[in-house]
Amino acid sequence: MSRDGDGRETQEGGAERTPHGYTDYEQARWTQNGTYEPLLSEKDSTRVEIGDDVDSPLPEGLTREELTLPQLSEPELARHYTRLSQMVYGIDTGPYPLGSCTMKYNPKFTEDVAALPDAAVHPDRKAETVQGTLEVLYRLQEYLGRIGGMDAVSLQPPAGAAGEFVGIRVAAAYHADNGGEERTDVIIPESAHGTNFATAALGGYDVVSLPSDEGGRVDLGALEAALSERTAALMLTNPNTLGLFERDITRIAELVHDAGGLLYYDGANLNALLGRARPGDMGFDVMHYNVHKTFATPHGGGGPGAGPVGVVSELAPYLPAPRVRRRGDGNDASYELFDPESTIGTVHGYQGNWLVLLKAFAYIARLGDEGLTDASAKAVLNANYLASRLEYEVPYGPFHHEFVASAGAQDAADVAKRMLDYGVHPPTTKWPEIVPEALMTEPTEVENKASLDDLAAAFNAVANEERETLERAPERTSARRIDQASAAREPRLSWHALEDR
Ligand SMILES: *Cc1c(COP(=O)(O)O)cnc(C)c1O
Repeated sequence: MSRDGDGRETQEGGAERTPHGYTDYEQARWTQNGTYEPLLSEKDSTRVEIGDDVDSPLPEGLTREELTLPQLSEPELARHYTRLSQMVYGIDTGPYPLGSCTMKYNPKFTEDVAALPDAAVHPDRKAETVQGTLEVLYRLQEYLGRIGGMDAVSLQPPAGAAGEFVGIRVAAAYHADNGGEERTDVIIPESAHGTNFATAALGGYDVVSLPSDEGGRVDLGALEAALSERTAALMLTNPNTLGLFERDITRIAELVHDAGGLLYYDGANLNALLGRARPGDMGFDVMHYNVHKTFATPHGGGGPGAGPVGVVSELAPYLPAPRVRRRGDGNDASYELFDPESTIGTVHGYQGNWLVLLKAFAYIARLGDEGLTDASAKAVLNANYLASRLEYEVPYGPFHHEFVASAGAQDAADVAKRMLDYGVHPPTTKWPEIVPEALMTEPTEVENKASLDDLAAAFNAVANEERETLERAPERTSARRIDQASAAREPRLSWHALEDR
């Protein structure tokens, strides 16, 4: 890379590249008579008679006489789904810098692994006949334990929030067995992820909110004041939501443990730590991992994901059942399921979301120690590089895998909508509230410099636009601004919803 006379970067021996983002971006809009791409059943609504000669074990009332089964050709089907995919934004379209959500690409090779014929095993098969499956699960337990510095891992929870809930119930079961029935408080920094508060409340605890200090970290004085014989746990994420490392973590652990509490680590986004630091070594007792964030498995539309839980040995007897263990070594090794002795119960069918876990296993195995360490280096480098390119103010720093910029006088929600017009996904907005009009940004380790430059260009273009332009946005997407509140509160998730529109 060198610079030309105008200070623009030029590629060695190649064409000049001026990063400006996708200013002419226009998302596809497949509409007919003003409505979007019709449903398959609207393209062809052939009614197929089922007839009475089918001997159905289903209860009467649940069976149907006839069914709408569209009779469409393969190209028609392929075109339908391709059109739909052109009307949405996805990780295969461009970067997805949603802070605290780690939306990195979903490697295609892990899909190949999950599609192997032997990956499709029935969960009711006897352990002797699915030794390979159990070995993968066992090894994943071991990998995650090693990555987090935890002694035992359960793979069952199907999401991060579910993992948190399990972690807090495990902590509660531990306290109940150790004279801690009076422990009613879970302390949570005010900047924490919303699920932490929900987890503590659903887990039966009172939430004690912890203010941050001026630097955006845990206020030790406030922590000491909040700790008491009522403390069951402190839930923390480190680096915290601002992307800052809690430098006093060992002192924090000491204070919590001295008060008889447990230290919970929200490990949804472990990107900055991989191969470098481990929650277990910092003094954490229990944590969850989000394989659909840190370990690159698809998020899906709200799932399925996996939120494994790791614990130190004192908490291992309470983990959900079943777990996988190994008997014997080398060629004599065999794998079996077992129920931890004081298990809190079962939180998911069988061993959890097997194919998701398999993809996470494949990803970790492929990267290995070096690859994971490299991933964390790039996650941190990318966040700091992008932050340095923004015209928006970035009040705290230096950062780990994410940073929080401020939209200043602009409305962060408008900024987000306008960014869509530049063909990039917006960051997380308006949270954490410590930063006014927050733009919480996590580029992830998978973006290269050119992609980060385009992203910065989009941010900076929006930073210089008028309020009216922002309020009208998005204009170049297939759908205009939607009513987010009713989309979240009154979701219509079935095509039946179309019948009464
Ligand atoms: C995403 C996230 C969660 C919740 O994970 P889900 O899989 O969405 O339930 C919890 N904590 C943090 C910090 C997160 O980023």
